[in-house]
Amino acid sequence: MLTKEDIITEAKRLGFADIGFTDADPFASQKEYLLAHQEEYGWTEAAGFSLLAGTDPKNILPNAKSIIVLLESYFEEAFPLKMERHFGRCYHNDDRVTKDGLALKVKAFRQFLKTNNIDSKVPPHMPHRLSAARAGLGTFGNNCVFYARRVARASSFVFPIAILVDTEYPPDEPTIAIGCPEWCRNACVAACPTRALKGGGKIDPRRCISYLTYYGEGLTPRELREPMGLYVYGCDRCQNVCPRNTPWMAGDKPQNPRVLAKAANFDLSCLLHMDRPYFEKKIWPHMFYMSVDDLWRWKMNAARAMGNSLNPAYVTDLVLAFKENSDERVKSMIAWALGRIGNKEAMAGLEQFSQGSNGIVKEEIEQALKSSAAKL
Ligand code: SF4
Ligand code: SF4
Repeated sequence: MLTKEDIITEAKRLGFADIGFTDADPFASQKEYLLAHQEEYGWTEAAGFSLLAGTDPKNILPNAKSIIVLLESYFEEAFPLKMERHFGRCYHNDDRVTKDGLALKVKAFRQFLKTNNIDSKVPPHMPHRLSAARAGLGTFGNNCVFYARRVARASSFVFPIAILVDTEYPPDEPTIAIGCPEWCRNACVAACPTRALKGGGKIDPRRCISYLTYYGEGLTPRELREPMGLYVYGCDRCQNVCPRNTPWMAGDKPQNPRVLAKAANFDLSCLLHMDRPYFEKKIWPHMFYMSVDDLWRWKMNAARAMGNSLNPAYVTDLVLAFKENSDERVKSMIAWALGRIGNKEAMAGLEQFSQGSNGIVKEEIEQALKSSAAKL
């Protein structure tokens, strides 16, 4: 039988940053929390993540005996600034669809277990971060993010991958705690633009920009549009301001060639004008939380980010996209973005569109014209 040391050696050989072990007991505190916050987390069931079922490992692997948690350090190489501006870093090199990066390492690790007669499962809906803390790999921040203990200079730029196995291994000492220094005074909570963070390691996920960018329903409410800033998919603000991340962020890193190669495809103008084949070929395989039916949301997010950039160079794009699109959520956001940029060209575009518009689009145009006029 494989020993714990054999497994640790193989994980390190495959390039995982760290590894820990915990038992396969239910995550009772997580279940209790989810049940008490159904209003905030109910959407996860509709989105296909049965978080409640994931709180009992035996629902997933009936003879589960242990959980092996691998840590992947995903920010070893630098990402292009033009990607960091608009997309959460953890998605830049996401290979959950293409399966040509991290997935290959996980597959090799599981194959190693299988060759040694250990059955395993990697359930997406199990609490991976809590598993990591239970396996002694790190602590939480008040921003609800997991921080490594021994690797990546104790930063949050790590993915915990919890693997259920049918073999029992001695568990490591848990480190379930908030590990923030007292002097920080909740920089993350203060910096969260949409007030999703509530302090004490609590969050309202429905107010988080990550949720809002890919699951938010309908036209983004007006009061959230400016706070959501330049983010199009995900958000890193509470990690960027965190002093626990300063040591890792300060280090020089080589460019990530995979992300650099695809960065041009994620240009805001390309996103605003993309058609179905472009989305399916160049975007969805890398950022897949929104299906082709949600193309409108990508465009709405791109238009909002353009507006918040206050960059007059985007006016031409926005005017063209207003004509290209029939979706009223996209058109409404384009009107808002033109009003936010608010120069003469933007105003001319809005006046031109006002004639043939009605309903919510007309209302947004009128609002945008008012805000533009106030600026001129
Ligand atoms: S990811 Fe962004 S929106 Fe979400 S909690 Fe952090 S700062 Fe707030
Ligand atoms: S910003 Fe401060 S309070 Fe927030 S996670 Fe970082 S150290 Fe903790």
